[in-house]
Amino acid sequence: MLVVAAALGLAFSQTVLAAPAALAGNPLATASTLPFHYPQFDKIKDEHFIPAFNEGMRQQLKEVDAIANNKAAPSFDNTIVAMEKSGALLTRVQTIFGNLQGANTNDKLDAIDSEMSPKLAAHADAIYLNAKLYARVKALYDKRATLKLDAESEHLLERYHTDFVRAGANLSAADKEKLKAINGTIAKLQTTFTQNVLKETNASGLLVDTREELAGMSPAAIDAAAAAAKAKGQDGKFLVAVVNTSGQPPLAELTNRAVREKLMALSLARGSHGGEFDNRDVVLKIAKARAEKATLLGYENFAAYSLEDQTAHDTASVNKLLSELAKPAVNNARKEAADLQAVVDADKGGFKIDASDWAFYTDKVRAQRFAFDENQLKPYFELNNVLTNGVFYAANKLYGLSFKERKDLPVYNPDVRVFDVFDADGKQLAIFIADMYARSNKQGGAWMNEYISQSSLLGTHSVVANHLNIPKPPAGEPTLLTYDEVKTAFHEFGHALHGMFSNVKYPRFSGTSVPRDFVEYPSQVNEMWAVWPEVLSNYAKHYKTGEPMPKELLDKVLASKKFNQGFLTTEYLSASLLDQRWHQLTPAQIPTDVLAFEAQSLKDMGVDFAPVPPRYRTTYFSHSFSGGYSAGYYAYLWSEKLDADTVEWFKENGGLQRKNGDWFRAKLLSRGGTDDAMNLFRNFRGRDPVIEPLLERRGLNGK
Ligand SMILES: [Zn+2]
Repeated sequence: MLVVAAALGLAFSQTVLAAPAALAGNPLATASTLPFHYPQFDKIKDEHFIPAFNEGMRQQLKEVDAIANNKAAPSFDNTIVAMEKSGALLTRVQTIFGNLQGANTNDKLDAIDSEMSPKLAAHADAIYLNAKLYARVKALYDKRATLKLDAESEHLLERYHTDFVRAGANLSAADKEKLKAINGTIAKLQTTFTQNVLKETNASGLLVDTREELAGMSPAAIDAAAAAAKAKGQDGKFLVAVVNTSGQPPLAELTNRAVREKLMALSLARGSHGGEFDNRDVVLKIAKARAEKATLLGYENFAAYSLEDQTAHDTASVNKLLSELAKPAVNNARKEAADLQAVVDADKGGFKIDASDWAFYTDKVRAQRFAFDENQLKPYFELNNVLTNGVFYAANKLYGLSFKERKDLPVYNPDVRVFDVFDADGKQLAIFIADMYARSNKQGGAWMNEYISQSSLLGTHSVVANHLNIPKPPAGEPTLLTYDEVKTAFHEFGHALHGMFSNVKYPRFSGTSVPRDFVEYPSQVNEMWAVWPEVLSNYAKHYKTGEPMPKELLDKVLASKKFNQGFLTTEYLSASLLDQRWHQLTPAQIPTDVLAFEAQSLKDMGVDFAPVPPRYRTTYFSHSFSGGYSAGYYAYLWSEKLDADTVEWFKENGGLQRKNGDWFRAKLLSRGGTDDAMNLFRNFRGRDPVIEPLLERRGLNGK
């Protein structure tokens, strides 16, 4: 999963300033004196945050004003470097607050978040729309060729210029006002879209009259459906809730085909069947407003605006990747459909496989082909063993790292573990925080974040954390992981390595400060070591007997993971294509009929295969229309293409060896955002990425 972005990107300084009176006694006021500025978790209280936020914003605005109004002519040092050094306090409080709110929150922290979010957004605007400040940045940018900057500094100057331009700094005063208005419109529409999706989902459950109609679901799930119906005043009936993907989990279980069809139909109709929460008009307005914003900023369409700042760079590259995959994915899905149809026919079903049947018959085929219980693996995946003899072991073999646990630093929860990380030459490289257990006050999923980012300008080294959500066993019981949890541990540590190996000058470029469609790449690569034979045999041992894991067990798991990839890739791809289509329109091209446009787009791209609908249809596609991944849903596959190609490189070059790890580190992991991300890849791989390893991995190469 994602890396949590630490801050605005402007502010990372750790300069120790005298604490202002407003922050007397506040441990956030100055940089921590613990090793590597490790946070003083034992001293920081909830009430310290708001005053530190307010003072941090005040200080940074003062610093930025001084830069903007400097009487001296703009120089790289007095403008760009000065901005890199600004905002030390704000960065500190924002980083610690964001991390604690994700990993260890409470009602007070949630309330502080609601209070501070709009203030922080306005704070960013106050910096980016400061005309005097931008004038200095632009003056430097315009004569950058004569400044004799080193490559990283020149890239930083370009980065600042881009950030300002993309925020609208180059517009006339009148256009700035227009942009603000459009931004306001988009924000409002996005909120409406999000609320409609949620309300429609809540209102869309499948109501049935009898228990028998839900045959196949577990008794507990049927009881829950009865309770849900009762809560909505439908005592005696049964209400099956829906989730926000097109596919619905009960479709794998329901034996009554007519009931499956009803559930699928209502899922696919969400947001587009009329009524109060219909999102069709909202979608058209969002698409139009975004297209207008792009036009105002000088781009052909919104996707072009969004992608310019990504590894993919332009719509042509994204369209190429998606169309390269569309045909093999759909072909494979058709083959999978034929396998499912064979089961239907053998049962004398007398019908053609449809979207509502897919999960049900896939589970049947899966059970026949891969008869095993995944729980058989767990005794071989004990947490501490996985971490120290698996994850750390691989990092030692590849990069020469060693790890030493320390118990003297404060933690925000007693289960959190802290390790000093040493480089091959014995020098300390970083501090690594392992927060592995699930808690009720911890955000779901898994993620990495940084408390302190590396920067030679500021003299800082990384303090990074990995967060997982492994259920904590009762006292005295071992923590045994699933295969997916093991992979997640390796994945998140891949992000941690990206942070810890950072060897850059400027905080703006530290570690994982890379484009959205690049950041998952190093972490996905690190997953390969979880099943690398030398690593696996070092950690996958029975927690009681020490016996190695039987190979046939792992082989079954790995084989079952390739199953159903045609379906999974096609549904993902269809949604990615829709996301691009909607955002590659000019204002004049916005259609009037959402569903017709959607159908035509899927047909044009060759992914209109009815048994596999898009993972999200337009009217409930929150990634695309609520903000976060607009024109960016392709990013997961984009990263995976680089990842699969890199895994091949490791295999071609002898796998788990220092020379390979050192090369990957030197060319890529240590470089953060200091260069164009595709340049980093080319420097590492010696060429552009190719698609074949990804096709092979997803079983899409026709073999
Ligand atoms: Zn990730």
